[in-house]
Amino acid sequence: MSQENKIKCDRHGLRDQAFVCQHLIQGKQLGFNLNYNPENPDELYPVAWCNDCEDKLDETDGWNKESEKFADIKLICCECYQNIRQANWVESEERYHHLISESCQYLSEKQDDFANEFKINDYERWDWYQETGKLIFSHNNKPKVEANIHFSGSLSSQSKTWMWAWANTHLAELVKSGSRIVKEKGEELNLLKLRSGLWLADEVDGWEMTAVLAKLTDAIGAYRTPSENGFTYMVITEAKFC
Ligand SMILES: [Zn+2]
Ligand SMILES: [Zn+2]
Repeated sequence: MSQENKIKCDRHGLRDQAFVCQHLIQGKQLGFNLNYNPENPDELYPVAWCNDCEDKLDETDGWNKESEKFADIKLICCECYQNIRQANWVESEERYHHLISESCQYLSEKQDDFANEFKINDYERWDWYQETGKLIFSHNNKPKVEANIHFSGSLSSQSKTWMWAWANTHLAELVKSGSRIVKEKGEELNLLKLRSGLWLADEVDGWEMTAVLAKLTDAIGAYRTPSENGFTYMVITEAKFC
């Protein structure tokens, strides 16, 4: 493991670095304002500060001695960052539940039609290709159905985390770029799970996040494939018989 950009945390050990304002560290419900690095907008742990710091920044017209002193940005580990984010993020629960239920309803209706029309449960294998953005179902070594896909993200059963496709540096742009629409929605509604690249999650979260992407992309269905340590989730925007 490279030591670069790492910190030795007393609680979590050697982890990636992250930065937050001094108030957030022990804070609760203080607000969590993200500041993306324009050169790396997909970063997992953008610098964050509380609402008081945000007000201070407005008051002092951005970063200067006064606002820097007020925020007193601290270096922490990425796992501490996730805990602090959870403790301080303020969002509308109702808004979140509304979005999830509307998205799941959309996907479950589409999914039934898709599965019936293309009989996707009848084929013995699947393969996806990042370079072409295709998912191919095949049987007896013959391709049967070809689908266009966007990855929503992946669930790690080891770390019990969800990672949005846009945040995954191992994925090709073609299959992950579609997931950024969810991040934009998350910015509009200020929802932690939509805006944050990585967070603690279970399989239900995986399907729910995939449903959100499905609705936003007018997908016709969704699919999940097992990986070495969890699952990869994707939406299907078009499909045809081969
Ligand atoms: Zn602050
Ligand atoms: Zn830590």
